[in-house]
Amino acid sequence: MSFLHCHTKDCFWEQDDFYSVDGYNPAEYLKDWMEQLCKDNIDEQFSNCSEFLAKNGPISKREVIAQEFEKFADRIRNMPWITYEQWKKDKDTAVCPKCGMRNFDID
Ligand SMILES: [Zn+2]
Repeated sequence: MSFLHCHTKDCFWEQDDFYSVDGYNPAEYLKDWMEQLCKDNIDEQFSNCSEFLAKNGPISKREVIAQEFEKFADRIRNMPWITYEQWKKDKDTAVCPKCGMRNFDID
C-alpha cells in the first residue's frame, strides 16, 4: 500500500492508500465489518474506551459500521488517483487538489 499526500506547509491534503483489485480496497476492508453487522447485538454501544468515547460519543456498533461505509463512499467520490497506476500516469503534471502545488510525497 502507498499513501499519497502533500507536503506544502499548512496544506495537509491526503488521500487513502491506493486501491487494487487483489489488495487493499473498500470492499475487502468493509468485508471485515460484515461479521459484526450480522450479529444480534448491533445496537449495543460500540466501545467503553474513554479515548474512543471522547472522540465519538456513546455510539452503537450499527452507527460505527455505517460511518465506515460512508467513509469509503466519500473516498470513492473524491480520490483523484484510485490506483498507483493512475498516479504513475499523471504524476509528472499532477497538482495538489487543495493547494495547487506539486509537493507530493508517497509513504
Ligand atoms: Zn497541497
